[in-house]
Amino acid sequence: MTILWAEQALLADGWAKNVAITLQGDKIANIAVGAAPQGQRVGVLLPAPSNLHSHAFQRAMAGLTERRGPNPRDSFWTWRQLMYRFLDRLTPEDVQAIAAFVQMEMAEAGYAAVAEFHYLHHGPGGTPYANLAEMAARVAAAAEQTGLGLTLLPVLYEFGGCDGRSLGPGQNRFGNTPDEFALLMQGAEAALATLPTDTVLGVAPHSLRAVSVDGLGFAASLRPNAPIHMHLAEQVAEVDELLAHRGARPTEWLLANAQVDARWCLIHCTQMEPHETSGLAASGAVAGLCPITESSLGDGIFDGVSYAAQGGRWGIGSDSNIRIALSEELRTLDYSQRLRDRSRAALASADKSTGRVLFETAARGGAQAAGRDAGVIAVGKLADLVALNSTGPDMAGHQGDTTLDAYIFAGDDRMVSDLWSAGRHLVTGGRHHAHDAITAGYTATVTKLRAL
Ligand code: ZN
Repeated sequence: MTILWAEQALLADGWAKNVAITLQGDKIANIAVGAAPQGQRVGVLLPAPSNLHSHAFQRAMAGLTERRGPNPRDSFWTWRQLMYRFLDRLTPEDVQAIAAFVQMEMAEAGYAAVAEFHYLHHGPGGTPYANLAEMAARVAAAAEQTGLGLTLLPVLYEFGGCDGRSLGPGQNRFGNTPDEFALLMQGAEAALATLPTDTVLGVAPHSLRAVSVDGLGFAASLRPNAPIHMHLAEQVAEVDELLAHRGARPTEWLLANAQVDARWCLIHCTQMEPHETSGLAASGAVAGLCPITESSLGDGIFDGVSYAAQGGRWGIGSDSNIRIALSEELRTLDYSQRLRDRSRAALASADKSTGRVLFETAARGGAQAAGRDAGVIAVGKLADLVALNSTGPDMAGHQGDTTLDAYIFAGDDRMVSDLWSAGRHLVTGGRHHAHDAITAGYTATVTKLRAL
């Protein structure tokens, strides 16, 4: 049993002062407001969001894709060519070291868990490893080392495009038939067996361009009560491709042809028409927003103002992992709305500030997408908690919502002091307990990769 005491805490029903929280195992067992200081003392205690979308290995590409290529118009698609060339070098050991490092960074940034959208399955050239789920096991081993909550989402990737063309040379490490994928899922389940009980195994049909109609239904049926994630509508070219082959835009097609509900998390909703935004908001699914990556790749701007006004749920993913920064994801999302609409504070409500709305929505949506019984601080929920320092020039004297506004708009993740994932105390004084060893392993790995 552990007792935390916070000067302020954002509970399920709002802010409270002098809060003592008792953790029992992985859950919150008791909350006492107006309590005397006791146990481990922190400043501002918040529900720690889950990061709902990551491709761990891409962390090691950060900084490698900012030169102009031979193509006069650099784009998502030229970036993807670079990504394919890079990943062809990666060994299972590399993937484990990179995943551990990025998970450690996520914990230090205030995320309690990650939903890993895992598609790098096979060896170079597409040769399966002796254990079909070798790479999944490496991601699981990284989670064992970091303690970060893991929702593993093995990806079904069948085709190179909507016309059913075979995978291109850069894609052959991803591909499986549905039968192979079912075996891979069994291997992934075995790989997760030794992880803590908050670990989740979901499923991820990659996108409407990479899976068949049958493949999508098959993937959805494999884990009927688990999270199902899919890339939805990131780029104009993929919308055009689906229109040409199925006569509908991706969101239109999915809402009409799949039972989209609270199980679903749709990644990248940058290319949606107003009727699609309304349809997705009404579905109960979570929109998986990745504002830093979507900025980096020039994807476009999600219509957050309209979606939120219609009650749509969303959460944050770090996707390409070019930068792990929870506060910056939230700030980037909000600033994108301001720049597009020439407005301010459009996501705030009558009684909640912008920072409060951003943080609470991301915490609830992230937990839903990751399949974790978390997202709010309440008795019985998983103890996914993040604490911010209450001292320092940007935070001193702030109370309530203004605390979150200062953290998101003036501060950064250096304000994070502590992080608990399902009760596991991973970060103290802003540092993960295995920071040095994990960083050394990652540095050795990327030094080797960059010399190749
Ligand atoms: Zn992605």
